[in-house]
Amino acid sequence: MCGIVGYLGNKNASEVILNGLSKLEYRGYDSAGIAVNTGSCLDIRKKSGRLAILADDVTKIKMDGTLGIGHTRWATHGEPTDVNAHPHFSENKEIAIVHNGIIENYLELKEELTHKYGVKFLTQTDSEVVAHLVDKFYKEEKDLLEAVKNTVKKLRGAFALLIIAKDRPDEIVAVRQDSPLVAGVAEGEVVFASDVSAILEYTRDIFYLDNGEIFYSKAGKNQIFDFDGNKIDKESVYVDLSLEAASKGGYDYFMEKEIYEQPRVIAETIERRLDENGDIKLDNIYISKEDLDNINKIYIIACGTAYHAGLLGKYAIEKLVKVPVIADIASEFRYSDPMIDKNTLVILVSQSGETADTLSVLREAEQKGARVLSITNVVGSSIARESHDVFYTWAGPEISVASTKAYTTQIVSLYMIALDFAIKKGTITKEYYRDMIDKLRGVSKKVEKVLDKKDEYREIAKKFIKSQSAFYIGRGVDSGLAMEGALKLKEISYVHAEAFSAGELKHGPIALLEEGTPVIAIATQSKLFEKMVSNIQEVKARGAYVVAIAQEGNDLVSKTANDVIFVPQEDDLIVPILAVVPMQLIAFYVSVLRGLDVDKPRNLAKSVTVE
Ligand code: GLU
Repeated sequence: MCGIVGYLGNKNASEVILNGLSKLEYRGYDSAGIAVNTGSCLDIRKKSGRLAILADDVTKIKMDGTLGIGHTRWATHGEPTDVNAHPHFSENKEIAIVHNGIIENYLELKEELTHKYGVKFLTQTDSEVVAHLVDKFYKEEKDLLEAVKNTVKKLRGAFALLIIAKDRPDEIVAVRQDSPLVAGVAEGEVVFASDVSAILEYTRDIFYLDNGEIFYSKAGKNQIFDFDGNKIDKESVYVDLSLEAASKGGYDYFMEKEIYEQPRVIAETIERRLDENGDIKLDNIYISKEDLDNINKIYIIACGTAYHAGLLGKYAIEKLVKVPVIADIASEFRYSDPMIDKNTLVILVSQSGETADTLSVLREAEQKGARVLSITNVVGSSIARESHDVFYTWAGPEISVASTKAYTTQIVSLYMIALDFAIKKGTITKEYYRDMIDKLRGVSKKVEKVLDKKDEYREIAKKFIKSQSAFYIGRGVDSGLAMEGALKLKEISYVHAEAFSAGELKHGPIALLEEGTPVIAIATQSKLFEKMVSNIQEVKARGAYVVAIAQEGNDLVSKTANDVIFVPQEDDLIVPILAVVPMQLIAFYVSVLRGLDVDKPRNLAKSVTVE
């Protein structure tokens, strides 16, 4: 998600840290901060907005010291304000920490710290608990490393941490659990960062920390421990990457990197919303059973890719919650004089949370008395702030204009909402609820398997690069998915692509087919499979080149289609999350093979803030 940089050595720490954070800017962030041990205190500066604002502050009033930690934040808990920016510190300002990730049990810990120790919290973040916990243990142990070891035992969730103490000017402790962190070492120096791009300028000897590791550095001596305190022997590796390659995590394009991040961010979006019994717990959604009983209609409104996620959400909510759902495009919905009242729930989906069309719908819907729930990736965005209820996708910053990981996490979010509503309303059984949660938890591993077959998708893409146009067809949820597949191809490869409901082909669009026209036929739905096979035969008979996407085991399709991409078997509602991944990669490879600007396609902007 965000960026972390830490330094202990002989240089001015604030300079190394600001420079390192600037190398991590590509990761996206909403605020930045830095803490330096000056020898007499921890000098802490925090600013919302661009890193330049923080750098400006540090230029005006210098920060002296050779030990420090810095952070660019991508808020998950609490709005992006100066106060909520990291580093966080203990009440006595003896301890400062930066954190990347999510502390799942922070509410529990906050409760304990408030009641048992009377701690007063300054921020709304989950991260602040870490500073207070380290402080408590440090007071008891008088040993920073031991205090950190005791602290991490109490934390659940994802955390990369850097910790420093006021009276330890030559010590720094780093922790890694499910969020990235690396340590670069040189003679008498150590630089920590979320990825190597912030370190390469200083050293290329890198320790890649694994989950459950603590890296402790004191006056030029480094040691690694596990969470139980056992010493770990580990070698550094020499990293030969260029700076540019490093910022893309070793990938050539952000889109590629983001496609490959999907297993992790899908898991993040799901796992952090499950309580200790494995039930769904939605932090910022306050819709009770009684509220749900009064809701007689749901609109899902969005634009572009987010709208396509909404189409899948419509299926899930109607199937599980048994309330009619209308999915519509924001720019159309707004002017259609929609029938909204206090018994309407409007679900808005927007990656940036700033999409102007969607924001106008929000204001109109609230004016007419509807309840508004938004699904967005950006904490504190306008849509998040103005909605009654919010679900954050936690996909992390999405840099590539063409959305991939935000889309799949939006689908997962809609499904979790559907399951939560349905169990509250009693429209599904507990067994079904449990089974679907288990299946959702398994998605991320299956996405990994789909990603493993990238060479296959590249070969298919090669067949597309000279095509003037391509068609995407599907039935049921797959027809919504077809729209997303076609949009990806249009956006980044500039191939004219159209999506049709497969059953609708014969009512007109089939006239467009010519010899060799590529048709991607999505046939993942068990109960519609045979119908799709007939549709594939229909288009094949008109000369189309058919690439089918089907669940493993449905071999019948191999007899009809020219190429078949098999995805792992999965529930009909969930399998589209797997099936979209090959389409993302096919669009990606077509764009690369055509030599286009994958991450910044012509005429498009990442966040569309005009109507
Ligand atoms: N969960 C933390 C927060 O909201 C850290 C977010 C991050 O990784 O930037 O402050």
